[in-house]
Amino acid sequence: MEIYLDNASTTEPFPEVIDAMMPYLSDEYGNPSTIYSIGRRTRKAIDEARDTVAGLLSVKSSEISFCSGATESICTLLIGAAFAAKEGRKKFVTSSIEHKAILKVAHWLMDYLDWEVTLIDPMPSGHINPKEFTEACSKGCGLASLQWVNNEIGTIQPIEEVGLKLKGMGIPFHTDVVQGIGKFPLDLGATGIAMASASSHKFYGPKGCGLSYIREGIDVRPLLVGGGQELERRAGTENVAGIVGTATALSVLARGQKAFVERLVELERIFFDTLNSSGIEYALNGGEPRVPGMMNIFFPGVESESLLLHADREGLCISAGSACASGSTEPSYVITALGGNRMRGLCSARVTFGWHNTNEDAITGAKTIGSIVAKLRGST
Ligand code: PLP
Repeated sequence: MEIYLDNASTTEPFPEVIDAMMPYLSDEYGNPSTIYSIGRRTRKAIDEARDTVAGLLSVKSSEISFCSGATESICTLLIGAAFAAKEGRKKFVTSSIEHKAILKVAHWLMDYLDWEVTLIDPMPSGHINPKEFTEACSKGCGLASLQWVNNEIGTIQPIEEVGLKLKGMGIPFHTDVVQGIGKFPLDLGATGIAMASASSHKFYGPKGCGLSYIREGIDVRPLLVGGGQELERRAGTENVAGIVGTATALSVLARGQKAFVERLVELERIFFDTLNSSGIEYALNGGEPRVPGMMNIFFPGVESESLLLHADREGLCISAGSACASGSTEPSYVITALGGNRMRGLCSARVTFGWHNTNEDAITGAKTIGSIVAKLRGST
């Protein structure tokens, strides 16, 4: 039986999500753009899902559109906003520790639209200095993006401060909320954010679905054009089951928000208590504020690749940095950006708890890691 401690990579869908989706994978298969009743019913399901999501994020329904996931949302919003940027404002500001989806768009803007890109490095704690970020946006900036929560180390960025300042400066500001959803209440409307992207499978919803937030009045050119679906923002017949599953996942999370966060804090405490009693040397990457239950740990002298392979043999699923980076022996660019050396970037592993984990998972996970690290160091 596997112990799954890689919830930042993807999550097990809530049973309520599967139940809500099932009818739209079987009897309720109508195309939402048709006028007969089976199509009208799927249209209604999408409309209701949009209202639910908008209500939970404190924004208007017309500001939410569904797509295939965060990567699509990020590409669409950033490239679409760049095409709509004001004359003479061809500068994109973001951080050097963003997910690859953002960093690759930065390259795309340089390569294909001749934009200038400024990457802000984090402080050693893994946080971006809001003053440094907004100052970098003061001249010629046409677009900025900052992740809410880092996907490798869980640090929470000063989104409200940056968002409100950039709103005042008239700069469209996008945030990647992928790792933030469910970890704290998200009141997008109050933050000054112009655009946001999320993936449903990161918050106990289905894969292949995600959402975009575009504040009213923000100009984003659509990249997928055709049938005009999703408020003309993303053409193509909708993934009705995915959309319904997304709204259900968000509702379940919102209902249990406080208990969920308390649970993550508890699992993290149990994990570290157990790891400490194993006596092995380690250090946590990234400082506070950080989301609970997302720990990136440096084990000096133990390459994460070996640790992960041994863990897998014992049925423990953990990762080294982002999932997209696994399989590569390059050190984590996030850990090295914190000022860590190459060795720290190569010898750090990520453990992330989720809704389905038990206390036993935390204890066994920590014991397994402790004994593998000790074995790899040759101390047993
Ligand atoms: N942004 C962050 C912070 C992520 O963690 C991920 C996935 O790991 C993505 C974007 C991309 O999400 P997806 O692969 O679901 O499109």
